[in-house]
Amino acid sequence: MHEMSIAQSLIEIIEEEMQKYDARILRSVRINIGQMSAIVPNALSFCFEVITAGTELEGARLIMDITPLKGCCHACESEFEIKDYAFICPACGSTKIETIEGQNLSIVEIEVA
Ligand SMILES: [Zn+2]
Repeated sequence: MHEMSIAQSLIEIIEEEMQKYDARILRSVRINIGQMSAIVPNALSFCFEVITAGTELEGARLIMDITPLKGCCHACESEFEIKDYAFICPACGSTKIETIEGQNLSIVEIEVA
């Protein structure tokens, strides 16, 4: 379950940020999960709870938004949402496309007290 190591690094980043602003209580953290990032949201949320249990971060809410997969066509330069993993440009039919969004995980905001 690689969600455990993802949750771990997520928490490390949060703790660093909290130290910077001298914050003590973490209320919530909002993250963006790419549709194709191979992260299972429920598993990540479970791991987050397990790791924060008994620490000062316990009780923080993990809000997850899923970013759809987006592609850019090298032939006609149009940008579009990739549906059902069909890696074909809907405008010109080219298969020379590049995914530009939806593969990563990023922290959007951290709410502290
Ligand atoms: Zn195209």
